[in-house]
Amino acid sequence: MNIQRNVLLNPGPATTTDTVKMAQIVPDICPREREFGQLMRELSTDLLKVVHADAADWAAVLFCGSGTLCIDSCVSSLVPAGKRLLIINNGAYSARAAAVARAYSVPHINLTFPADGLPDLDAVESTLAENTDIAAVYTTHQETGTGILNPVREIGALAHAHGAVMIADTISTYAMIPFSADEMNIDVCMSSAQKGIQGMTGLSFVIAKKSLLTAAKDYPVRSYYTNLVMQYEGFEETGEMRFTPPVQTVYAAKRALAEYFAEGEAKKWARHTRTINAIHEGIARLGLTETIPRAIQSGLVVAVNYPSADFDFTRVHDYCYERGYTIYPGKMQTASTFRLCALGAIDAPDIAAFFRVFEEALNA
Ligand SMILES: *Cc1c(COP(=O)(O)O)cnc(C)c1O
Repeated sequence: MNIQRNVLLNPGPATTTDTVKMAQIVPDICPREREFGQLMRELSTDLLKVVHADAADWAAVLFCGSGTLCIDSCVSSLVPAGKRLLIINNGAYSARAAAVARAYSVPHINLTFPADGLPDLDAVESTLAENTDIAAVYTTHQETGTGILNPVREIGALAHAHGAVMIADTISTYAMIPFSADEMNIDVCMSSAQKGIQGMTGLSFVIAKKSLLTAAKDYPVRSYYTNLVMQYEGFEETGEMRFTPPVQTVYAAKRALAEYFAEGEAKKWARHTRTINAIHEGIARLGLTETIPRAIQSGLVVAVNYPSADFDFTRVHDYCYERGYTIYPGKMQTASTFRLCALGAIDAPDIAAFFRVFEEALNA
């Protein structure tokens, strides 16, 4: 089969290998069969290994849905009655967690900071000190809208010092930036198959400490389909997701993880770094500027300022898209930006080829 290769520079879904695409072509199978259950068990153990989480203490809870389902699940499931969630919010993805908290009437504090900088840790600490009813702290590892990398380890240390659990949206860093959940002071993190592991859309997972999942049994149930504890208990009892899993996506995820471990954590991160460096070079060569200071960037996403007030993003996008390259709008209300991302099965030569097309688009 000859599949056209598109270079996706949007923040996920990412470019996948042909072998991962082909892994979806499998004989029809009922997901309640033992064979599929075995696949799910292996997958959930492999998912823990990516963040060096010990299977004795941690569990991966799988869901059929996009990454936001994990935000929904954590926010709705991990706040005990009479307690509050503290959301450290410096961007669109943490704002999404606050929107989920509002939707389920989860008592919370939405501690907001400007979207073009890091959260102020002194403000986080004083909020924790003044509000002893905070049971969980939530933040986003990489705010994918700007490419800012947040200090999860430091926020997690503050959370723990005040007896709160640390929930991190690591959807756009998992399986890209190497980290250990324990060393990062994380109790709960999450991701989605179409991002770091370079799989297909439709499978997402929460990685949580088993002790917390046990404690959360007594917490209010605010959602049925996305409840983290119910999904965990269902998997423990039957080895299956409670409801129909994304069967073919699971096969692709298994293959994608095998490719992840074959490439290796350090080599993969080095590849993403080569890719982002090629993006930085291309931006500089064309005289464009970046929105966020390099020191607080993740190394995966660059927000680029529009080259001029009359820059027509859609025309440039369409020109590149027709030639196999996808660029993505920004997510900052205050600035006219677009984004170039180093996710997926791409490397520096893809970026060099992209910038040739991009330059043509600007000239055209
Ligand atoms: C991609 C992403 C999500 C999830 O988005 P979906 O469209 O639901 O997959 C959540 N948080 C972050 C930081 C992301 O990058």
